Amino acid sequence: MAETVFVESTPPTSRGRDLDLVVSAVRIPMRRSFSHAAHARDNAESVLVRCRIGDVTGWGEGAPRPYVTGETMAGARQALTGESSLFLLEQLAGLWASGAAFKAGPQALAALDIPRMLGGLQRAPAAAAALETALLDVWCRLFDRPLRDVVRAVVPSLGHTHGLLAEEPRPQPVTLVADLAKARGSVAAALTPASAAALRHVKLKASAEPTDTARRARELRAELADAGAGQATFSVDANAAWTGEQSLLAADLLGGVADWLEEPTAPRRWEQLRRIRERTGMPVMLDESAVDVGDVETAAGLGAADSVNLRVSKCGGLLPALKVAAAARRCGLRLQVGVQVAEVGPLWVAGRVLATELADLLAVEAGRQDEWFDPPLTEPPYRIDRTRHLAPVPEGAGLGVEPSPTLRAHGVDTG
Ligand SMILES: [Mg+2]
Repeated sequence: MAETVFVESTPPTSRGRDLDLVVSAVRIPMRRSFSHAAHARDNAESVLVRCRIGDVTGWGEGAPRPYVTGETMAGARQALTGESSLFLLEQLAGLWASGAAFKAGPQALAALDIPRMLGGLQRAPAAAAALETALLDVWCRLFDRPLRDVVRAVVPSLGHTHGLLAEEPRPQPVTLVADLAKARGSVAAALTPASAAALRHVKLKASAEPTDTARRARELRAELADAGAGQATFSVDANAAWTGEQSLLAADLLGGVADWLEEPTAPRRWEQLRRIRERTGMPVMLDESAVDVGDVETAAGLGAADSVNLRVSKCGGLLPALKVAAAARRCGLRLQVGVQVAEVGPLWVAGRVLATELADLLAVEAGRQDEWFDPPLTEPPYRIDRTRHLAPVPEGAGLGVEPSPTLRAHGVDTG
């Protein structure tokens, strides 16, 4: 990994208090590329926020993607370097100095709309995710509490959340994702008998062509069955690349092959999404179409969805993601916890907290950071049990991970 390009910007003034906040943008080459119908990626691109209260530091991450939330790296950076970021840090530091209880910090942040604060008319969820995660990390570290305790602190205030959380956090089975950059046959061939038997879900990234996608889906399902993974459920993600007609065709062709179709057509085409469900019977999972509670309630009200893919950066942070999860549950929609490709550190931890806290998930994605980044970007490193396809419960105070020497060597100021 030779290059990292952007670097940090501006701490605004800290007005004499013992705190500071730094925004960085990082671009790190991946060891192999990842591609789907909307984008091919061979670099991790994230905005990072480091904040400090006294001698305690927290860090956070957002993944701005124009094709997901309309945000660019430059725009997210700009949103974060305005006055609002330091203002929120000062609020939190004041709360800490007042002797407030642990739950007061997360509850205060949960009462705000940080994507709106940072972005104004053009909400900025990825920027907000970076800031919120850093604030929650520093808050948890001040109290020596894990990030998952934030979830338990705010969920009771979200209303009608019976059954939303698991009784206790558990390692979660993770999805195997087959993207367009993987050679045919390589997915099933990489499975051992033990890992095939443990596999719960496989997701295929669609190409721009429904017929080609359906053929690949049938081939992959047959390969998986031959490899001993016939029990795994199967989905196809089109990343909003198809027209309404193409989506209907794909849903027809994938009948009996896919268990659900993720974001088949342009985001928020509610009528088309409903038509797919009604005409073909194929369940529809929303991803790019569902970034906030309003999207979920609209989709459910119009009969346009069966489930929602929850992603921390897309939703604006862990707390807004919990609100989306609660809304989905209230509306009778199922949930998947997903990722942005090549999350650097804070985002994958926050996603994993969601995945290990929420009950009754359709599927959980975790990324392949162990393949994409070597040496690792965090200490302790990203880890998945690839034999049992299990993501462990995050440990330690706050996020429980620190930037590795490799990440620091990329010129990023992460404390
Ligand atoms: Mg998706």
